[in-house]
Amino acid sequence: MHHYHLLQQKLDRHPVGAPYSEKFIEILKLLFPPGEVELALLLDFKLKKVENIVQEIDIPLDEAVAKLEDMADKGAILGKKIGGTRAYALLPNYPGLFEYPLMRSGDPENQTKLGHLWHAYYMEAMAAELGSANPPWMRVLPAEEAIDSEIEILPYEAASQMMAKAKKIAVGNCPCRISEGKCDKPLETCLSFDGAAEFLAERGIARAITLDEAIDILKKTEEAGLVHTGSNNQENLLFICNCCVCCCHMLRLITEHNFPDGVAKSSYIACLEDDLCTGCEICVERCPVGAIACDHDIAELSKDKCIGCGLCVSQCPTDAVTLTKRDTYTITPQTLNSLAKQVVENKRISLEGRIDL
Ligand code: SF4
Ligand code: SF4
Repeated sequence: MHHYHLLQQKLDRHPVGAPYSEKFIEILKLLFPPGEVELALLLDFKLKKVENIVQEIDIPLDEAVAKLEDMADKGAILGKKIGGTRAYALLPNYPGLFEYPLMRSGDPENQTKLGHLWHAYYMEAMAAELGSANPPWMRVLPAEEAIDSEIEILPYEAASQMMAKAKKIAVGNCPCRISEGKCDKPLETCLSFDGAAEFLAERGIARAITLDEAIDILKKTEEAGLVHTGSNNQENLLFICNCCVCCCHMLRLITEHNFPDGVAKSSYIACLEDDLCTGCEICVERCPVGAIACDHDIAELSKDKCIGCGLCVSQCPTDAVTLTKRDTYTITPQTLNSLAKQVVENKRISLEGRIDL
């Protein structure tokens, strides 16, 4: 079988999935040219030492290291130093093969082609794969300033508290806005933490920043009307994305692809006070998911639609909208591994053969 088809099958064994599509084969051809695809086929989703990789292929160690380093620099594979040696692993489609090569600013022609291919692949196959994940891979993190100080905020829902625990933070360009290009919202907004931040900063795909800079990015993205989202687990957050509904591959699962739970809602919900509302419709404009309408000169909330992002709160001129705790909400999985296990378990028939993270 063709190398690229074998690689697609291997990537599809990851819980995130990589369903077959000719568009995905074209993406793989761009990311793994001949000479590199053979090496990619020897990798797993767990780091493998280069000495073990070369035992399975007839090329000298130096040559293999040079190629694997180039692949890691492009963001096509994960590469790390372990002790005195180097180790490499495959990346899943999300976060990984979609984001990292697009975040790296390289040859503009190649970037445009890659962006168009990811757009087509997402529309054709990947949106359905991501949208059917149960629990969802990502969750909404509320704008912290929208939450009254008297209301409890869980530590794993407070973006600033989670960021404060990270030993390393990096920021890179948003791959969704690069590939879709449908708005002029801020681009350098994708925050990564610890292992992910270390890899991306070391490879020049993102830049290392301080906690203060990261908090400033959260504030600016809230002002710009972007929704904070993070991986749907409590411990060791890998990323915080700042998403627009026109480009984001995750938020569009809700608004375009008929997966109302494609991203987990926060444990908060908007609350409107009719007496204070002047019907100015600012909140209608701010809401990314169309949860507020103003049909009779007064704002009305569709509770089913509200994702609890808090974007409507800060701009209301009369403080008529606040964020409050939902009566019931789903507990976020503890770790990324437990999230992946639940996703695989819930799709075990169609996902037969996939591996744990
Ligand atoms: S922004 Fe405030 S005042 Fe204006 S419509 Fe919304 S809730 Fe009412
Ligand atoms: S009403 Fe809209 S903007 Fe306000 S919290 Fe809900 S989803 Fe966010």
